[in-house]
Amino acid sequence: MIKVNRIDIPEILKVGENPKSEGEIETTDVIDFFSDPVNHNLKYAKMGTRGHRTKSSYTVYSDKEVRKALIKMFHGKCAYCESKITSIYNGDIEHFRPKAGYTNSGEPITKPGYYWLASDWDNLLFSCPFCNQTNSHEIIENGQLKEIVLGKLNQFPLLTETYRLNSTHGGIYISDHTTYIEHHKKEESERLLVKPCTDEVEKHFKYNENGTISPNFKLNDFEKNKAQTSIRVYGLQRLALVQAREAKVIQIKAQLRRVEQAIENFNKYLDTSEEERTWFEGILRQELIELKSFTDKNQEYSGLAKYIITDYLGKAGFLTP
Ligand SMILES: [Zn+2]
Repeated sequence: MIKVNRIDIPEILKVGENPKSEGEIETTDVIDFFSDPVNHNLKYAKMGTRGHRTKSSYTVYSDKEVRKALIKMFHGKCAYCESKITSIYNGDIEHFRPKAGYTNSGEPITKPGYYWLASDWDNLLFSCPFCNQTNSHEIIENGQLKEIVLGKLNQFPLLTETYRLNSTHGGIYISDHTTYIEHHKKEESERLLVKPCTDEVEKHFKYNENGTISPNFKLNDFEKNKAQTSIRVYGLQRLALVQAREAKVIQIKAQLRRVEQAIENFNKYLDTSEEERTWFEGILRQELIELKSFTDKNQEYSGLAKYIITDYLGKAGFLTP
């Protein structure tokens, strides 16, 4: 998992435009729908042209323009596990704060969810079905192979329920956005999931050479809880993913050996001819470029690569790349 900078908001989701964007029209309608408590357990039904609710639900967040922007922003990778998905699958447009309902650590689902954020740009991520939906996965626990259900779906755990946003806050999302933001900030302070576009993502996680992931060192109790909860909720220890990360570690370590070899050769021929020195310097430079490319944001598991390489360079007494 890495920090990703959010790109400009797609036109269709802009708020405060004249004429209103499709996103703002839908959000206003959703807020109106859920202002009636009778609808709290129902699925959102869009207002039709004749003033009757239709069978159509949310449509704006899954617009082509939004999908394209998210794929570009996340380089076709899952926001949580960093697996490349666009080569084999459309990918899910994921609502970080779930729109239909939420659950906190296995408790029953509470409805409605964060419906007012269904087309909020900051709430949208790109993700793979294994992190975003619930599926049965193999994991290794205490040396034993087990099969369990993993994946985020409607989970949105907070440290306590004190500042949980609800329909009252949803009702003022557009009409009194300043007050809404104050409440949102309080909820953010107790959020137990690491958010790719907001948090200092990399500091939370440590990667091991066998491909497993764990909370990093030097985290305070809250951050450690947040890292641990994120690993559990996103299913980041599922066996297939651990194996894919382990394969990446093997590639990185092979490249580190090539860099070591190039340094050795460069030092060995340092006092020989100018021509030989330039030759070995060129090889060393190329091997370092290859090594650094593992940490490019468009590469799979670049967070892991950054951790493994930085850790190696730290132990070897070099500066970070
Ligand atoms: Zn994923």
